[in-house]
Amino acid sequence: MGADAGTGPSAAKGPGDGTRAVRAGLPEPVKHEPTLPGPVFAAHFHLPGDPTGPYTYGRDENPTWTLLERAIGELEAPGGGAETLVFASGMAAISAVLFSQLRTGDAVVLPNDGYQALPLVREQLAAYGIEVRTAPTAGDAQLDVLDGARLLWLETPSNPGLDVCDVRRLADAAHARGALVAVDNTLATPLGQRPLDLGADFSVASGTKQLTGHGDLLLGYVTCLDAERAAAVRRWRKIVGAIPGPMEAWLAHRSLATLQLRVDRQNANALALAEALRGHPDVTGLRYPGLPDDPSYKVAERQMRRFGCVVSFALPSRARADRFLEALRFVDDATSFGGVRSTAERRGRWGGDAVPEGFIRFSAGAEDGEDLVADVLRALDETAD
Ligand SMILES: *Cc1c(COP(=O)(O)O)cnc(C)c1O
Repeated sequence: MGADAGTGPSAAKGPGDGTRAVRAGLPEPVKHEPTLPGPVFAAHFHLPGDPTGPYTYGRDENPTWTLLERAIGELEAPGGGAETLVFASGMAAISAVLFSQLRTGDAVVLPNDGYQALPLVREQLAAYGIEVRTAPTAGDAQLDVLDGARLLWLETPSNPGLDVCDVRRLADAAHARGALVAVDNTLATPLGQRPLDLGADFSVASGTKQLTGHGDLLLGYVTCLDAERAAAVRRWRKIVGAIPGPMEAWLAHRSLATLQLRVDRQNANALALAEALRGHPDVTGLRYPGLPDDPSYKVAERQMRRFGCVVSFALPSRARADRFLEALRFVDDATSFGGVRSTAERRGRWGGDAVPEGFIRFSAGAEDGEDLVADVLRALDETAD
C-alpha cells in the first residue's frame, strides 16, 4: 500500500488502528463509572429556564450519539477538527448531504454504478429541479461532466462492481471548479480509506455494513471538516428526524472496539477467496481491488489502507449461481455485506444493478479462511454443469 498508508503504530503517526479503534470515543475515566456508558433512553432532558444545550430534546441530541460521533470522527479524521453526525441509516446520511447542500438549479454529479438506491435519489433530486449528471466510477470519467457542478458524489470502491476512482485527483478538479466533494466510504470503512485526507469535503457512509459488522442494526453517518456545512447537515437531520435509536448507537459504538480485528480478518479472507477463485474455470469477471492484477489495484493501492471484504464474480448462468448459493454451508444467502458471518447473493435478483444474471456479490466474514475457501470451492465443484 502507498507510502503514507501504514496501518500500524509509529512515533510519528501516533497509535495504530487497533489501539485507536478500541479506545475511539471513550469518555475520560471517572471512578465508578463504566468504560463505555450504556445507552441513554430519553425523549427529553431536564431543562429548567432557558433552553440551552447540550441536551434538550431527543431528536436534536443524545449523549450516546455524542460518544459514537466522537468515535467515528476519530477514525475518519484522526487529525481532529471534523464534525460527525449519526443518522438512522446510510440512506438518511446520504440524503442529508445531498438535500442540505443542493438547491434548485444546481447540478450534481452522481455515479451511474453506485448503491442501488441512488437512482431513487436521482429522481427525487430531479423533481426538485436539480440537474443530475452521471458518470461511471472507473477511469475518473467524472472529470468530463464537472463544469458548473455544485457537488461531486463519489462511491469508491463502487458497490457492487468494485471499481475505484482517484479521490485526490477528482477532488482537486472539483474544487478548482468550485464544487464540493462527498465520498461514500461504506465499503472501505475509515480503516480502509480516509476521504477527508484525500481532499473530500464529506465522508458519508452506511454504518450498517462492516463498520458495525454484526448485521443487527442500521446506521449512517456524515463526517465533515467545515462547521457551516456540518450545521446545514445537522439542521436537515432535525427537520427530517432520521435519527438513530440510542440502542443502535450504543451497539454501534461497542462494535467499533473490534473494527480493526474484524476488518483485518475479513479482508484477509476476501483476498484468500479472490486468489482461490482466480484460476477457477467457471468464474468470470472476478473483481477484488486488492488483487495486483485487478483493474482497480493501481489507484486502490495508492489511496486505500485496506481493500475491503467484498469480492464479486460471475458464474455462467442464473441457475448455476442459485445452485452455488444453495450449496454453501458457511455462507448465508443474504443481502448487505460486511458482517462477521459471510454472506453472498445473486445480485441480479434485485433488478437495479447492471450485472450479469450469474453475478455474485460475496462478503467475506470472520470464519477461518481455510474453511471459507474450502466451502466455496466445494460448492462450485458440486454444482458444476
Ligand atoms: C448499504 C449501502 C448504503 C445504504 O445504507 P443503509 O444503511 O442500508 O441505508 C449506501 N451506500 C452503500 C455503498 C451501501 O452499501
